[in-house]
Amino acid sequence: MSKPPFSFQLEAYQGRARAGKFQTPHGELLTPVFAPVGTQASVKSLTPIHLTDLGASLILANTYHLYLRPGDQIIAEMGGLHQFMQWLGPLLTDSGGFQVFSLAKNRSIDQDGVTFRSHIDGSLHRFGPDKAISIQENLGADIIMTFDECADPNDKAYSQQAMSRTHTWAERCLQVKTRSDQALFGIVQGGIFEDLRRESAEFIAGLGFPGIAIGGLSVGETKSEMHNILELVDQVLPEDKPRYLMGVGTPEDLVNGVRRGIDIFDCVLPTRLARHNAAMTRYGNRLNVVNAKYATDPRPIDEVCQCYTCENFSRSYLRHLILAKEILSATLLSIHNLHTLITLVNDIRQAILINEFDNFVGEYFHQRKLALLDEDDN
Ligand SMILES: [Zn+2]
Repeated sequence: MSKPPFSFQLEAYQGRARAGKFQTPHGELLTPVFAPVGTQASVKSLTPIHLTDLGASLILANTYHLYLRPGDQIIAEMGGLHQFMQWLGPLLTDSGGFQVFSLAKNRSIDQDGVTFRSHIDGSLHRFGPDKAISIQENLGADIIMTFDECADPNDKAYSQQAMSRTHTWAERCLQVKTRSDQALFGIVQGGIFEDLRRESAEFIAGLGFPGIAIGGLSVGETKSEMHNILELVDQVLPEDKPRYLMGVGTPEDLVNGVRRGIDIFDCVLPTRLARHNAAMTRYGNRLNVVNAKYATDPRPIDEVCQCYTCENFSRSYLRHLILAKEILSATLLSIHNLHTLITLVNDIRQAILINEFDNFVGEYFHQRKLALLDEDDN
């Protein structure tokens, strides 16, 4: 027997924060890790060379989008998603559940899956656990997800029903999975309700997945509700498996998530903000680069940032690119925004490894307070 393709080792703990290593067939992930999102097998406006230079280690792609276009069969014929998009490091695909429930038209849900119309051309499709696994096996990412239903987090009756379906589908996904070179993660659901979240975490943890995701957060609940659920789930989940908080990724969410035992994050925010002319900062302020006050501002977005954009370009130039509708603005802002989040999680990891995470958190929130007070001086 050869060595199993996946292993997770915890290197250090501080409080509930963890630093670890997750081995995948396409390389090792050092956790905590932030994954940029490549919805359509492309992190918008960036090449794989940019991503490598940024120190990105894990990229997420969306099953729903790739199934509809170009089709998972085509990607399989082209050698799988790594080859197709030329990202040769670790890849993660979601199950399509979230997009089916948020984007698709005319959904009808039953015990075995969801029938829906494509948001692109109105064509009729059906997703369930079998289909979600078969598509993800065609795509070939290292980490794949069970098919789940994300309910309105404040609606208890719906959250309970969606959670039960998510559990049944999780068992089915395990049964139908055939590839041994993909790690299938189960997903905890249950909205903002403690009893449901506990039940879901216990159920999903009991199925023996190599990693566990927490879904249905950052979808309309408050921050304190999210923190409460993370603390509760943290007590139930096994220590020795990576935990992935889906779709969460402001700078302060990363710090707050790691404090509550999270290892993996992904979010479209850095690249989406970049396309809306906004630069993120480490402490949570956002610069609207198109603002007239930057017309002759020679400073970079952030004077202490060491990204390619800040080392080379002024706010004045970035503003010019935006006004001239040059697509380079999206690239340069995406580089800065992703650098901000990736260096933040790297710094968090280092702080945990040297037992300085508590101080890091104190200093982070102190600086954040000052930065938000200073917002108008930028
Ligand atoms: Zn920068």
